[in-house]
Amino acid sequence: MKENNLKIQKVHCNKCLQETKHFIIAERISSGCQPANNDPHCEYEISWSTIYKMLECCGCENITMQLSLFRRTDLSPRKFLIFNSLS
Ligand SMILES: [Zn+2]
Repeated sequence: MKENNLKIQKVHCNKCLQETKHFIIAERISSGCQPANNDPHCEYEISWSTIYKMLECCGCENITMQLSLFRRTDLSPRKFLIFNSLS
């Protein structure tokens, strides 16, 4: 795979200690839904998506894993909770 075919995203690099361009070398999305708890009428549903990304710094070539979790309930359809954890 040629590097110029890879998507690029700007994220914080733990080695460069600043935001740098990273190649997205792998990306997986898993999602699902289930009825909301405490809802006797089953009118509401909770859905979520988890995006796993493996990123490589274009500068120092450090590899970073990024996990993004999107959770949505139909009680508040415009409100998304987004967590980013970099390790
Ligand atoms: Zn770096």
